[in-house]
Amino acid sequence: MGLVFTKIWQRMIGKQDMRILMVGLDSVGKTTILYKLKFDEVVTTIPTIGFNVETVEHKNVSFTVWDVGGHDKIVAVRRQHYHGTKGLIFVVDSNDHARMQKAREELNKMLRADELRKAVVLVFANKQDMPNAMTAADVTDKLGLNDLHHQWFIQSACATTGEGLHEGLDWLSRTLC
Ligand code: GDP
Ligand code: MG
Repeated sequence: MGLVFTKIWQRMIGKQDMRILMVGLDSVGKTTILYKLKFDEVVTTIPTIGFNVETVEHKNVSFTVWDVGGHDKIVAVRRQHYHGTKGLIFVVDSNDHARMQKAREELNKMLRADELRKAVVLVFANKQDMPNAMTAADVTDKLGLNDLHHQWFIQSACATTGEGLHEGLDWLSRTLC
């Protein structure tokens, strides 16, 4: 694992069942983030039902990544993974104005699940390097974050350079511990 993140991760280790879910629409930068964190081993599995799941297990911390959306059957299977989730990372492409409403709906849909009632939410407003990227304030507004009944934090990020990832995860680990 990359050195910068080791310290952040260290805080979460020792807690029981620290499950982190990172989700978002496709192509927003989730896989890029995962590899930027330089975990030793990312395992990609495709359950029979047919959606990609990327998982990293680091001691008692598990980090699971998938694309939101899809048909009801997939949504039902994913729900089984919610159990024990303490932190939800929601990634958006700040440059993708057209899909911001869709992102909002998917986030809200997920957070209605009882298993995620107490989860804290970190939003990465990713792709800040793009010329038409919305600011974190705009993304906050478009996603309706102020209406959430969850503890949340938004962080501007650029997954390709790694900018903002450290700050976001630092908030998450401090909030969870
Ligand atoms: P995923 O579907 O959410 O896993 O998205 P990926 O990580 O596969 O990224 C989709 C595309 O967006 C890839 O071509 C990435 O290189 C690109 N990408 C990811 N993050 C950024 C970013 O911060 N800025 C820019 N410009 N491109 C990004
Ligand atoms: Mg991906």
